[in-house]
Amino acid sequence: MLRIKTLPGMEDILPEQMVKWQAIERKAREVFLVYGYSEIRTPLLEDAMLFSQSVGEETDIVKKQMFSFLIGKDKRVCLRPEGTAPVVRAYLQHSVFRRQGLVKYYYLGAMFRYERPQKGRKRQFYQIGAEAIGSNSPYLDAEIIYLVNNLLQAVAIDGYQIRLNSIGCLDCQANYKHLLRDYLRDKKDLLCPDCQCRAETNLLRILDCKNKQCREIIRSFPPILDYLCAKCKEHFAKVKRILTEIGINYVIDAHIVRGLDYYTNTVFEFIHPELGSQNALAGGGRYNNLIEQMGGEKQPAVGFSLGMERMMAISRLEPQVLPLHIFFALMGERAYDWGYKMLAHLRSKGISSEIDYQNRSLKSQLRKANRLKAKFVVIAGEKELNKGKIILRDMRKQEQREINLEKAEAELCALIPADS
Ligand SMILES: [Zn+2]
Ligand SMILES: [Zn+2]
Repeated sequence: MLRIKTLPGMEDILPEQMVKWQAIERKAREVFLVYGYSEIRTPLLEDAMLFSQSVGEETDIVKKQMFSFLIGKDKRVCLRPEGTAPVVRAYLQHSVFRRQGLVKYYYLGAMFRYERPQKGRKRQFYQIGAEAIGSNSPYLDAEIIYLVNNLLQAVAIDGYQIRLNSIGCLDCQANYKHLLRDYLRDKKDLLCPDCQCRAETNLLRILDCKNKQCREIIRSFPPILDYLCAKCKEHFAKVKRILTEIGINYVIDAHIVRGLDYYTNTVFEFIHPELGSQNALAGGGRYNNLIEQMGGEKQPAVGFSLGMERMMAISRLEPQVLPLHIFFALMGERAYDWGYKMLAHLRSKGISSEIDYQNRSLKSQLRKANRLKAKFVVIAGEKELNKGKIILRDMRKQEQREINLEKAEAELCALIPADS
């Protein structure tokens, strides 16, 4: 029989890893609560049009990386490749804008992109992200960046750098693209094949190409920051000033454009040297036209997403597995009957307890108790029960005593609250 394995770029997350994983999620939820963001969950499967409409027809994500397939004759659906478009869809679908002014949502979950699997890039990967919809306030740009900063600190990650840029409003972008296109007209053959394509379809992406020669060509052209309109210039200046005032260090990086069509104005990345070539830990920015573009009223918005696997790789969080309270090491059927009843009772009171189900020797039962880091072990067999007693061993103090059977329940229940 062929033994089936996971698909390329898709991985199991085993319980050993889940301890840290859950600790990161827990910390993230705490930070979101402090900042007033509430959780939203959207489906994994969406209408494929949602992403061509928002992320952009000509982006790598929509063109090459969607896990999409047909339902019925002509409904193309896909596994979500990113989190922002589904949140905006939900925002519009439920007319949230009519009930509330500004909304602040966060999400945690799996995203899917059909890419060549490599270090730091999976086909199913997890993101933590947030979207704040309904305000163009530069304080909100700063809030999102400060939030990411706090979140990373909360999960024991440091040594990252915040890179900031502004790509202006649609007018700024149109103007800049026009100039850039002119500049590149006689240099097209020198660009990498990807950028030759981008020159036609997704011009701004050339700015963040990692190819050495492309970088060289772009270096001699002024950054988009130099061409911002007065309003965009002022907005960005204010964002920078607020960040400085709240103690956020950042560098301006003209290469940061983000790959998606919907971004406007402030864009940022948190990068970490320990991540290697896929060094972006988090990324985000403003998307002031997306809601309108998706059929809503114009609502400026800003958001970010963090890569869970990348956080897992560099977080120094060392969450402890909660120790087991009581392990029952039992020999013989009578002892099992007694012990199992006690176990059921303790568990119903919220006291973690375990028993061996494999009929093993006392010695290997005690080994298991050790491995589970049990605080106490109850030992009972024919011999003890005949005397009307059980043995209670305190694993930390390395001492044990006998307890009368009729007092056992009260004593075992009393052990825990005092000790935990
Ligand atoms: Zn502008
Ligand atoms: Zn290139």
